[in-house]
Amino acid sequence: MSFEEKRKDLIDDLKKRGVLTNAEVIRAMLKVPRHLFLPEEARSSAYMDSPLLIGMNQTISAPHMNAMMCEYLKLEEGDKVLEIGTGSGYHAALCAELVAPDGARTPGHVYTIEYHEELVKNAINNLKVTGYDDRVTVLHADGTLGYPQEAPYDKILVTAASPEKVPQAFKDQLRDGGILCIPAGSKNYGQTLYVVRKHGNVFEIDKKCGVRFVPLVGQYGFEN
Ligand code: SAH
Repeated sequence: MSFEEKRKDLIDDLKKRGVLTNAEVIRAMLKVPRHLFLPEEARSSAYMDSPLLIGMNQTISAPHMNAMMCEYLKLEEGDKVLEIGTGSGYHAALCAELVAPDGARTPGHVYTIEYHEELVKNAINNLKVTGYDDRVTVLHADGTLGYPQEAPYDKILVTAASPEKVPQAFKDQLRDGGILCIPAGSKNYGQTLYVVRKHGNVFEIDKKCGVRFVPLVGQYGFEN
């Protein structure tokens, strides 16, 4: 079975399970070649619905988690997105496919921050190979500070576990009406996935489900 056929089967399954419902997210998941974001030895597992190791003891989320987060963020053409935790670059590419599809009249952009230099280099390469390097900017920095240079963002996606006290930069750098999707809670015992919408000084918080992400490190993350 080709990678493409396996990808289609996975997405059919996510649709059947009711995880994937949005037509644009389905289109993006069908288009972005997840296997090309993985180390050679993990590629045969690329279209199983499970997290996988990507080096430096970090993991790429299971596809159902990528899909859910994209749906919760209500990504639209033209959105400016900030992702914390680039990892392989796969989720950033998915976001780019949604905010800046081919032929977009008002293409958006994805800024994504990664802490580990080796993963930064790898993600830049993966995004180049798959043709997303023009729509995604990878930054090597501490993501708990956000990226004020390009703020405010329409959407902020955090793909590492935040302490219960969410870094202030994420709230400050979200535009009024913007959406933040973030797992927050304990470093070792799992977290809750939150979808937060900003209305001026008020943050409307929607608690989604229990999740397990690798910890956010850095100044306002968990201690190493
Ligand atoms: N979204 C990624 C998977 C993220 S795994 C993908 O699609 O592959 C979580 C990532 O967050 C790891 O790569 C980890 O190194 C990174 N990370 C942890 N703390 C960080 C911080 N303070 N700033 C930036 N990246 C961080």
